[in-house]
Amino acid sequence: MVDGKLLVEKLIVYATKFLYMSELDETYMRNTLLVHFKLDAPMEKVPNLEYIKHMTVPDVLLDEIKDYAMENNIAEDDTQKTLFASFIMGCLTQKPSEINQSFNYIREKMGAQPACDYLYNLSVMNNYIQKTAIEKNLGWTHKDGDNLLEITINLSKPEKDNKDIAKLLKEGNKDKKYPACALCPENEGYLGGYNHPPRANLRTVSITLGGEKWKVQYSPYAYFEEHCIVFNQEHTPMKMTRETVNKLLDFIELFPNYFIGSNSDLPIVGGSILNHEHYQGGKHVMPMHRANVLYTLKSEKFHDVEVGILNWYNSVIRLTGYNRNTVSELAGDIIEAWKGYSDEVVGIFNSVKDRHNTCTLIARYLSDGKYCVEIILRNNYTTAEFPGGVFHAHPEHHNIKKEGIGLIEAMGLFILPGRLKAQTDEMAKILLKEKSFRYKEDDPMYVHKNMVKRLIKDNPDITEKSEADEAIKAYINDTCVQILGDTSVFKKDEAGTIGFRRFLLTCEIK
Ligand SMILES: [Zn+2]
Repeated sequence: MVDGKLLVEKLIVYATKFLYMSELDETYMRNTLLVHFKLDAPMEKVPNLEYIKHMTVPDVLLDEIKDYAMENNIAEDDTQKTLFASFIMGCLTQKPSEINQSFNYIREKMGAQPACDYLYNLSVMNNYIQKTAIEKNLGWTHKDGDNLLEITINLSKPEKDNKDIAKLLKEGNKDKKYPACALCPENEGYLGGYNHPPRANLRTVSITLGGEKWKVQYSPYAYFEEHCIVFNQEHTPMKMTRETVNKLLDFIELFPNYFIGSNSDLPIVGGSILNHEHYQGGKHVMPMHRANVLYTLKSEKFHDVEVGILNWYNSVIRLTGYNRNTVSELAGDIIEAWKGYSDEVVGIFNSVKDRHNTCTLIARYLSDGKYCVEIILRNNYTTAEFPGGVFHAHPEHHNIKKEGIGLIEAMGLFILPGRLKAQTDEMAKILLKEKSFRYKEDDPMYVHKNMVKRLIKDNPDITEKSEADEAIKAYINDTCVQILGDTSVFKKDEAGTIGFRRFLLTCEIK
């Protein structure tokens, strides 16, 4: 049994040390916790709790809160106890106004990185960023010629529980969902439910991009270092226009320590949320950012902007220069030209009326202080042969990745589904002949039939588990390379290279 009174004291020590709680708020916070824990008086003789100050994550305390909630009828299932624990962490965390004040003060006095450190550490210590879960993700790198891809298997996002889905049905169909979506500002402090993750401990900071009110927060299931999400305060759809460039550049001027990128504004080649305008960024140097320039070109209109075509899998234009205005103007020209461009010779079907062209857009500062804008050209055209998209991962790769290839993956950091962990373990057993592979459609492994056939054919004599793992990994690596190639609108062959130059000419780039 958890000692509730002692837990209250532990949380007070924890919040004072890690969540910037003022001593002036101690009594008030103790009384607040007593209410939520259904206790009438605090502990009389508090033992030494110095060890709390050496914690690096709040996991132990979270577990105690959850157990206490179950033991005292505050929660009756896993979802409810998780919501309650997040709610308590939210109580212990300062209000958004105080967070904004501290963030802006630190940025003014010390710079953007210390301000980011403040919000990031706070989000880890109040358990919004699930650090322990994130550390369980599997990951490796794949050297492919001059490039280095990063491949991760995401085990930190919890699978939906069927029991929760049943309870959700009982809740009934609400006409209007609140908050309207996962990105709306109404999430800040929201308890959550069976259909909505806990957000009581979410804290954001407000910024201005392109004259509009936007907010910044960290991702709870970070895919890379200091993975932040930047979203419009209004629930308004994704856009890819000249103004997008301007907003991304506004962001890096506020956060010169981060890159920032926008997914496209069309399905298939965009992110998973198209109905709320948002960007993603962070401190990580993405694989594409390390890619070299294959050849450089000149803009007739803007002589001070360097134009480079990247030695990268998909079709990327890198613009760099010291002058924000000219970099921004040229990027805007390219985006608008691409949206209206069509070249059926190389299979790019598009029209202004029935638009398939869009892009993925990334901005950052280079170490020499230049602005850098990268435009990945995208197209979401579908055919009978490729109903999922001509420039989307082709069907033979769907056993590894079926979801859209968004911003992060287009830049070479793959986030593969968690199911692959168990499935690749199963494959290793098949390769080691410990199990046979049944080619039946109802088998969950059936999606991998071609992969398994190929692995068996290429590796008939494997006897060690490590060899089997390596062979499987090599297959996944190769698939990721091919997926990026699938998304390339201008292929790397002669026709594609000429086609790319033909498009750039329409933007007066030679
Ligand atoms: Zn929204």
